[in-house]
Amino acid sequence: MIEIQIVPSDIRRNVRYVFFDRRRVLVAICVLTVVLAAILGSMAAAPTVIRKVYKDNYVKSMRVESDIQRERLREAIVQMTSLERSLEDHQVRVEKLITIYGLEHNLGQGGFSFPLKSKDSSDLQLSDAQHREEALRHSMIRLQQQLDLLSQYEAANAAMVRHTPSILPVPADQFVLTSPFGMRISPFTRAADFHKGLDLSAPTGTPIYATADGIVSFAGQYPLRLSANWWRFGNVVVINHSDHFVTIYGHCDTIKVRRAQEVQQGQMIATVGNSGWSTNSHLHYEVRSDLEQPGTYVAIDPRIYILNYQWTNEANLLMRSRTSKEYQDFDPLPPSFTGKGEVVRVRSKGRGRRRA
Ligand SMILES: [Zn+2]
Repeated sequence: MIEIQIVPSDIRRNVRYVFFDRRRVLVAICVLTVVLAAILGSMAAAPTVIRKVYKDNYVKSMRVESDIQRERLREAIVQMTSLERSLEDHQVRVEKLITIYGLEHNLGQGGFSFPLKSKDSSDLQLSDAQHREEALRHSMIRLQQQLDLLSQYEAANAAMVRHTPSILPVPADQFVLTSPFGMRISPFTRAADFHKGLDLSAPTGTPIYATADGIVSFAGQYPLRLSANWWRFGNVVVINHSDHFVTIYGHCDTIKVRRAQEVQQGQMIATVGNSGWSTNSHLHYEVRSDLEQPGTYVAIDPRIYILNYQWTNEANLLMRSRTSKEYQDFDPLPPSFTGKGEVVRVRSKGRGRRRA
């Protein structure tokens, strides 16, 4: 038994007595111990809880941060993809120029360098993006160098450039390409034959433009007794451009130029028609060049010689024109089509073969 006396400081008040027996003291000690243990336990557990809460927040914020980074990377890749696409367009234009000027040997390796394959956009690897950026930068530098060389070449060879076919022979918004260059089934014989030009379908009367500066070497219908094939083109205009190119405009309705007349690029020379062997109003446009085989004017894909219009899949077009040997199957040009000067040599060879 424990007796506690509580003595007030004021002596007028009574002294109070509190009695604890052993049982009460034990209960009090037990309660106190439990409370103390709870306090100590929670204090010991606190760092773990705090650490966990902190960690959760950290992970959450990192996740938000990484989402932002991912989004930025995605945007960068979208921009890069569009840059790559426009770079490819420019590369194709440059490759076209290199091809039409016959500069492959002068401008380094030539050929195609399209390392810029567009990857699946869901593949958002940073290292991949860096690699693509590097490739993009290299291609830009190469393109710039080629453009510099091309403009130097154009400045130094202004006359040759003016005499190189490089525009559409009809207004861009008035034609439909109905038959490309290459093997096809003939609409007349139903047999496979080689189409040496482009058929550009357009309403009768649509203007036809000279595609480069030159001299008209033929205007009218070619005599049947000399060649049935050329006679079938109906009213035809042939322009001789300097020494390396001849362009042919077939099935014309009206002809606006005469033989030996000088014409400028973009000048109207005839109108689209349906003359000769033709099933609908269209222009048959041919480009012949002797750059590949000097002295022999072979038919080449005119689409490559049209810089003011973008065809679908031009990269493939260029690739094919460089590797294909299909253009070896062609009618030789009548000697009167190829003009004067150095061409006289070609003319006599051409005549010999044609008469043989
Ligand atoms: Zn045709």
